This record gives sequence, structure tokens and C-alpha cells, in this order.
Amino acid sequence: MAKKIGIIGGSGIYGITEGMDLEKKTVNTPYGVSTDVYLFKVNNKDIAFIPRHKIGHKTPPHMINYRSNIFALKELGVNQIIATNAVGSLNEDNPPGSLILPNDFIDFTCKRDKTFFDDEVVHTDFSQPYCNRLRNIISKNGNLIKKGVYVCTEGPRFETGAEIRMFQKLGGDIIGMTGLPEAVLAKEKGICYSSICIVTNYSTSLSKDKLTIEEVFKMMEIKKEETIKIILNSIKDIPIDYECDCLNPL
Ligand SMILES: [Zn+2]
Repeated sequence: MAKKIGIIGGSGIYGITEGMDLEKKTVNTPYGVSTDVYLFKVNNKDIAFIPRHKIGHKTPPHMINYRSNIFALKELGVNQIIATNAVGSLNEDNPPGSLILPNDFIDFTCKRDKTFFDDEVVHTDFSQPYCNRLRNIISKNGNLIKKGVYVCTEGPRFETGAEIRMFQKLGGDIIGMTGLPEAVLAKEKGICYSSICIVTNYSTSLSKDKLTIEEVFKMMEIKKEETIKIILNSIKDIPIDYECDCLNPL
């Protein structure tokens, strides 16, 4: 199995497959579903792409089968993943339109399957939650804020003002619903994982206006081309054979 680079694209990033010679693979997984993966090549490197919400943006964040997605990518030989996540900002230093490479997270999801290790005692090290090697490569390919703490909520509702104030006090910089447990599951499988977070809006208490999903889609529309370019340029710099701490996470 050829080693591949995985892309898990959130809202707006599905355009990365446009004009590519695509092969669709449906991977059956032990997690109750199958995952559709789209294979193509960039710079002669094998790419495996998963649209996180499925084509047509059908699956809400709390219903995504994150285990099935990561399992499918690993089955296809993926050992490095670039993900994208639309986020709200908790911090006036990160205005809408910013692109952020998180270096840490706080997990407030509550009803998702968060591990592959249900039948054995395994405690994965999370002192470096995202792959620093990939973060370094990606940061050189665009105008990105190089660190930030990602807060993940269960959703699908947006947050209250009191929740946002709490997340700010806890040190969160950005907030979304899709970053976890994806980052955890990738690490459990020994996959290098990095996320490009696209700030689409200020969070509830930072914005005078009511938050809407239209606002999120509108900013994604503006930023998608730049984000796709960063991903494609980063792929040129990502080696297929490499050494990284992520390979031995346990
Ligand atoms: Zn790594």
C-alpha cells in the first residue's frame, strides 16, 4: 500500500478535488458505517480526501463518525493528515478571516466515541496534541497564526455568552465543533495530524450580532481558495518518508 497524505476537509474545502483525476473508494469499517474516500495525486504524491460532513454538507458535527473516518484513512496507507476546521474566535487578536494552526486543545465534547482503545488499557501521551513537524511545514506556506488553543464543543447549537466567558478564562483562543475527537483518534493510530483553522466569526459575546451558519459559510467562501492553496503548497513540502514523534504515541 502506497503511503498517502490525508486531507479531511471541513465546510468549503471540498473544492480541492476540482479538476483532479478522482477515484472514489468506499472503505468498510468496524464502526457501523463505511467511509467514502476520494483518491487523487498532487505533485505525484498520493492524496486521500474525506469531506468531513459528506458531499452536500449533510452530516452535522455531533453525528460524524470520526472513528470510521480515521480508520478508513489508516487502512488506505495514510500516515499524515492535514485537516481544516471552521472556528469562531474567542480572542480579539484572531479576527474573522484569520488562519490558525492550533498547538493545543480543550475537549468539551461529551457524547462522541473518543478512542479506538475500548478493550485494552491504553493512555496515549498528549503533551504535543498536534504534529509540530507538519505545523512547521504548513506555517511556511501561508500567512498563518502559528499557535492557538482549540476548544471543541458538542454542538450542534452555538455557545451561550456565559460559556464563551468560561472558555476564554480557560485559555481558549478558537472554538469549533469538529476538531475532536478527530485529532485524538489520529494520534492513537500513529498518524501525524495538523489542522488549519479558519476563523469565520467572533464567538457569541465578542460579537454584537446573532451568530448564524450563513456567516460561517460566507467567510469560508472568501477563505477557501487561500486555504486550498496553502494545503496544496504544503503537500509539495511534506516528505512521504520521515521520522516523527507521532509515529510512536503510546
Ligand atoms: Zn508528527
